[in-house]
Amino acid sequence: MRTIKVSLEKRFPNGWIDRMTALNTVLKSDTEIDYNVSAIRADFPALDLKINGHPLAFLDSGASAQKPVQVLDRMDHAYRSEYANVHRGAYTLSQLATDNYENARMTVANFMNAKTPDEVIFTRNGTAAINLVAYSYGRTFLRAGDEIIISHMEHHANIVPWQLLRDAIGVEIKIAPIDDHGNFLMDEFEKLLCPKTKLVAVTHVSNVLGTILPIKEIVRQAHNIGAHVLIDGCQGIVHDGVDVQDLDAEFYAFTGHKLYGPSGIGVLWGKLDLLNKMPPYEGGGDMIENVTFEKTTYREAPARFEAGTPPIIEAVGLATAIDYVTGVGLENIANYETKLLTYATNHLAEIDGLRIIGRADNKAPIISFELDGVHAHDIGTIIDSKGVAVRAGHHCAQPLMDRYGLVATARASLGMYNNTDDIDQLVDALNYVKDIFG
Ligand SMILES: *Cc1c(COP(=O)(O)O)cnc(C)c1O
Repeated sequence: MRTIKVSLEKRFPNGWIDRMTALNTVLKSDTEIDYNVSAIRADFPALDLKINGHPLAFLDSGASAQKPVQVLDRMDHAYRSEYANVHRGAYTLSQLATDNYENARMTVANFMNAKTPDEVIFTRNGTAAINLVAYSYGRTFLRAGDEIIISHMEHHANIVPWQLLRDAIGVEIKIAPIDDHGNFLMDEFEKLLCPKTKLVAVTHVSNVLGTILPIKEIVRQAHNIGAHVLIDGCQGIVHDGVDVQDLDAEFYAFTGHKLYGPSGIGVLWGKLDLLNKMPPYEGGGDMIENVTFEKTTYREAPARFEAGTPPIIEAVGLATAIDYVTGVGLENIANYETKLLTYATNHLAEIDGLRIIGRADNKAPIISFELDGVHAHDIGTIIDSKGVAVRAGHHCAQPLMDRYGLVATARASLGMYNNTDDIDQLVDALNYVKDIFG
């Protein structure tokens, strides 16, 4: 079971370049050891922390991921030596900051395979990206009686904006059901589709169950009846990646801080013609063409949706994070994470009284569980005393908790830097919880 544990501690005098070369050599030369997790861990300073006297086992990347030193250094350098407001000044520093910001947009566009960087809008976070669509698209293209389909496993960020829209203009919200394992029920979804369906807004990956939804098929079915589709990619882009041209949805939203980038930045990708038919969501500087007190005209996307000073350095940090994960290879990461998920699932399942919630056929490395007779918050607190960080609570998905008759679960979510030691530490800590509760 321990074949995925690799310890190729090497010296890398040239930093990241050497590490990548070493990693690629390893990938090519040995199929058993296909992922140099030790080299990756060395890039994440937070993983060296001691918590309550124990090494940190960070198993909460689904809430927010740790950042590699490349991201931290790049942002530090940009703040020290490349900082000014963007799109404003003719002076060198402002030009440099603007170039960095727009290059970051290009990096994101390439990462998602967008047709053009103009389709990439920087927002505050994933939540803001979805709210932008609910407000601007929703109030322009949807009418009372129109139906929006969401799934039973949405994050509150992909529920509440549609409820606000429902309260404002009278659209209806339908819920696509899931089975007890957390699989999205395609047949049931198809039954909900009807001429009144104007928008389907579903998550790519469930942040609670780990389910990877069949989003391409969902888009195809929705398009068959002429509905538009928004995908909440906050978890999905991290573990599964996205090719927005191949997917063909109208919108794809994600957040920077779960992709090893900084907090304070999110992305809304949208089809350009549609974006340019949508009115601005917020008004202010930088999004206008011309302003008089009588009439103001707006710039095209993405500028029309980026009122005010944008997350300048956060964009640079996000682009560096994207370079980092693409350097390792999203597919390599996903393959490794899947093996680690299997390892974790098998070892957790051996604990008496532990029940895993979410056993979908196609699953990202997120494991929700409950332990007989112990509240999730107690689990979280006690294993923290052993240095293990997991999330406990409803995970911003209360309707999903209701579906399983739960108020809370504990959730271990894995990232590219986790290893079998982290899992072993979790299992030991959970056995300690059981000892305490008898
Ligand atoms: C985290 C998350 C969000 C919200 O992202 P923020 O960056 O917190 O705004 C939305 N949907 C899913 C599935 C998430 O996991």
